[in-house]
Amino acid sequence: MRLPMKSILSAAVLTASLVGTPAAEAAQKFITIGTGGVTGVYYAVGGAVCRLMNKSYKETGVRCSTESTGGSVFNVNAIKAGELDFGLSQSDVQYKAIKGVKPFEGDNKVSDLRAVFAVHPEPLTVLARRDAKVNAFADFAGKRFNIGNPGSGTLASMEELLGAMGWTNAKFALAAQLKPDEMGPALCDNKIDGFVFAVGHPSATIQDPTTTCNAKLVPLTGAAVDKLVKEHPYYSYATIPGGLYAGNPDPVKTYGVRATVVTSAKVPDAVVYNLVKAVFDNFDDFKKLHPAFAHLDPKEMVGAGLSAPLHPGAVKYYKEKGWLK
Ligand code: GLU
Repeated sequence: MRLPMKSILSAAVLTASLVGTPAAEAAQKFITIGTGGVTGVYYAVGGAVCRLMNKSYKETGVRCSTESTGGSVFNVNAIKAGELDFGLSQSDVQYKAIKGVKPFEGDNKVSDLRAVFAVHPEPLTVLARRDAKVNAFADFAGKRFNIGNPGSGTLASMEELLGAMGWTNAKFALAAQLKPDEMGPALCDNKIDGFVFAVGHPSATIQDPTTTCNAKLVPLTGAAVDKLVKEHPYYSYATIPGGLYAGNPDPVKTYGVRATVVTSAKVPDAVVYNLVKAVFDNFDDFKKLHPAFAHLDPKEMVGAGLSAPLHPGAVKYYKEKGWLK
């Protein structure tokens, strides 16, 4: 789904040149949050944030809207270009963008990227058709596998994993790049044997194929995963609980990242302050807006998985709360 963005973007672009002045803060009337595919959890995070922000529209004068996008890498680049004010991003993508690590090397580095807060954990979640006879990720060699859509954090993480395994896309009979809402139907229609999605749980993107065609969760473990988790601060081991999805009663071991909300240093402090205030002043309501938010803890959300500097507008609110010194 695409929202009519023109008027929103022109307002955001107009204010960009005035950033830091009181006029700029008063002029920023619209903000847009880049999310991911409509069946993912990012889309729900953006919707929840905007819903709470728009409740205080009378006081703040700021209207919030979400945009469905390709995911983390797209969002970070669009923030850099001034086309989005906020975006969801995996913690590994945030890290690479601020440090200038591939795919953000050289001129692609995003020095103005600022962290706002962390959200839910995102295990790299691998799903297979039962008839593909896959028990471990390596069994996908020679099979049809969806590695993530262009612009997604999933694809960026997969490229790092495949590199660590010494694999290229040629290892698969097909390395598909379908979008999240297309992966489940393609799996059940026997167009692919499996897919990976870095996503919070529970997620409709995983639930649909497990209920529709009895798809199976596959563990993602081994020497390459151990190496990645050991060497990089943005990865950690993760377990997808047993019984969360139909036909998958056992816990499944994998590794993963964390979802985070990011913005640009160019976005005025007052705008960021109002966004975090809307979320954390109404935190019980926020948590009810998606089951993947059930275990969120505000004190953890202001630190975990954040490698870009916190935006000063967020710091102000977190200090008021005593969550930061
Ligand atoms: N982590 C995914 C990505 O950036 C998106 C997950 C979601 O949409 O919930 O590619």
